[in-house]
Amino acid sequence: MTLRSFHEKKLEKEHQFAVHPWRIIEEEFSVDDNHHNEAIFSIGNGYMGLRGTLEEDYSGPAETTTPGFYINGIYDSEEIVYGEEAPNLPKYSQTIVNLMDWTKINLFLGEEKLDLLEGSTGDYRRVLDMRTGLLSRSFVWQSPGGKKIEVEIERLISFTHKELALIDYSFKPVNFTGEIRVESAIDGDVKNHHHFRRDKVMEVTATGFANGRCYMVQNTSSSEIQIAGAVMNQVEAPENTTVKKDHFVIEDEIIEDFRISATQGEEYRLKKFASFATSKDAAPDRLKKKVVIDVKQGADRGSASLKNDQKKFLEDFWSDFDVFLRGQGHLQQALRYNAFQLMQSTGRDGRTNVPAKGLTGEFYEGHYFWDTETFIIPFYLFNRPQVARKLLEYRYHILEEARKNASRVKLEGALFPWRTINGKEASGFFMGSTVQYHIDADISYAIYLYFTATGDYDFLYNEGAEILVETARMWFSCGHFEQDEGKFCFNEVCGPDEYKPGVNNNCFTNFMARFNLRFARDTVEEMKENESDKYEALKDKLDFCEDELDDWNRAIDNIYLPFNDELGIHPQDDSFLNKEPLDIEEIPHEELPLVSNWHPLTIWRYQVIKQADVILLMLLQGDKFTLEEKKANYDFYEPRTTHDSSLSPAVYSIIASEIGYTEEAFKYFIQISRLDLDDFNENTYMGLHTAGLGSAWMALVYGFAGMRNYHGELSFRPYLPDQLDGYQFTIYFRGRQLRLRVTEKGASYRLFSDESLSLEHCEQEITLEPGQEKVFPLRDFSRLPWCNER
Ligand code: BGC
Repeated sequence: MTLRSFHEKKLEKEHQFAVHPWRIIEEEFSVDDNHHNEAIFSIGNGYMGLRGTLEEDYSGPAETTTPGFYINGIYDSEEIVYGEEAPNLPKYSQTIVNLMDWTKINLFLGEEKLDLLEGSTGDYRRVLDMRTGLLSRSFVWQSPGGKKIEVEIERLISFTHKELALIDYSFKPVNFTGEIRVESAIDGDVKNHHHFRRDKVMEVTATGFANGRCYMVQNTSSSEIQIAGAVMNQVEAPENTTVKKDHFVIEDEIIEDFRISATQGEEYRLKKFASFATSKDAAPDRLKKKVVIDVKQGADRGSASLKNDQKKFLEDFWSDFDVFLRGQGHLQQALRYNAFQLMQSTGRDGRTNVPAKGLTGEFYEGHYFWDTETFIIPFYLFNRPQVARKLLEYRYHILEEARKNASRVKLEGALFPWRTINGKEASGFFMGSTVQYHIDADISYAIYLYFTATGDYDFLYNEGAEILVETARMWFSCGHFEQDEGKFCFNEVCGPDEYKPGVNNNCFTNFMARFNLRFARDTVEEMKENESDKYEALKDKLDFCEDELDDWNRAIDNIYLPFNDELGIHPQDDSFLNKEPLDIEEIPHEELPLVSNWHPLTIWRYQVIKQADVILLMLLQGDKFTLEEKKANYDFYEPRTTHDSSLSPAVYSIIASEIGYTEEAFKYFIQISRLDLDDFNENTYMGLHTAGLGSAWMALVYGFAGMRNYHGELSFRPYLPDQLDGYQFTIYFRGRQLRLRVTEKGASYRLFSDESLSLEHCEQEITLEPGQEKVFPLRDFSRLPWCNER
């Protein structure tokens, strides 16, 4: 058994960046790599995000750049135009907007403007440092006229002061003395490059100067959001330097201009502090004042202090999130990069979430999907449960919209939107979106994971219980008892595999719906018993009647769970096995991904799968299936899966690990870990794949280490892939920190906590006392009959 050749080939790609444990290093500037690297060198803090564009104007071809500066959750809408109308379709789109470009800095050496595509560039280096949180770029540029200048630029978006950013720009004339002009601007003449029909959606409504600061206000066209930004430029030069300042506004651009009488060999510096706020943070009439005050406070704090805070934040971040991987430097680098980038794109205020492309690109329109609950929450849950809670609070925050979404399609309770920012369904393609009802169960499942790992009753009995009741109601109204056998079935649904929409009894959906109904029932019953006041309040608030529990129980007991005796597998849905088989090895590579090359009707006819579906179920509800069943399902579905979605490889890696297919597990692990750095899907320029970033961590922790938390019981089945010398990570579980270190000598568990922790290691119960470390033999695959046969 091998990986499909299409994917296998990708793994042979040469690494674009040098292997370094903590850094991503670009050693040469090239127009060909520019688009990809704009995404790779993105920086952000969950509140805002900036693509790795250059400070100076870029003169390369337009199709090699997508400048982007975004604030999480800040979007505009347009009426959706449908080819053919149908009742109750969503009316308006939501698209994250590209905001003012505050990074612009142009240098003029006399009349010559710095441009890396002109003249010649030496000693070029761009480095994203994951320990300092700084993006730096340095080079020596020689103008076509022969003037040489050394430039060093550092950028940061503050992790500790969410509204602040800084560009620290220094330069030194190497072979000349003469005037250097620095133009620092905020440019409001920006647009989104995709998705909107209107060319320009943001309107600049105010610009101005106030006590050495400049500001700009932009309004969205129809979502009625205001965004303000302020910049404070500070020039530092040796004594006796003449610096002439000027400032002006030209149309939508506000510019500060510094004319410096520069001397050969001396260093000059521009510190550009910036601050931002939106009408979601403060009243619209206070916005200007807020950003102007904030930027001054940032400048008073000073660049050194901001950089220091950045470093301290990361020390703390890595103390929880770091993963060691010995023996494969490029994978060590990738795991750190993935964690770092995921953190940079995660909204942590309970009102925003993680866009599918993070804050690193405008594709997927800044929308939040089930990606968060399924592939990102686990990463936070075991490292920083507080962040997982904030992401779940976001779902609670949009619950009212989810209720409306359910009634739009004549369902009870709440149906969470497939794609959204503001809580309303933003997709105009219902076959790929609303029909994926499983999003309700995915959210409930994430609540379950969160609760079992934290014991946070406060969340469960408040926000959690409301979501659970409303989603259970949705499921009960969505299914029906079939006449013949009385089985409770869900028809016309779509599971995670988007290549099979509108099917009956998608296996994943049915199992996950049962899970959702059970969890809702158990939570409500426990509340009644343990917290009767809260239970009564919930009943009143949701108009909940106990008869509903009887309905749910009838459904739970009768949910149809597809199984095919002959094949010993779980059919993906009622019609899957009847479809025409297809050898995906026969598909020409240039026709993959199918989603971009084949008409949906063509795809729907075949036994071809976009992404893990039944195999994902084997992970999420893993305690409901035997290893033999997992193996049978894997053997059946793996050759039928194109992995056209980045949500797929990690899941296959995890289940391959579980059933002892360790070679394949490792290949899928490489595929997901280096997905963006090596641009395996050739679309990273559109933005990083945040579900991929989170699921790479899962492939290690759930896959190689075999971690599970069924029913709040933590268990591991660790092994060491042949390609690695060892790995190590820590997790939090019920307030205790546990470190697992795996080497060829065994698996060593160490508990950092005042309280003991019990867990299972390869089916053996163990208890760790505070501070204790225990070592056990690794998982023995020879006990699996098929591993000996392979
Ligand atoms: C996948 C979805 C996913 C979306 C955003 C699609 O290609 O099929 O499952 O939610 O991308 O990442």
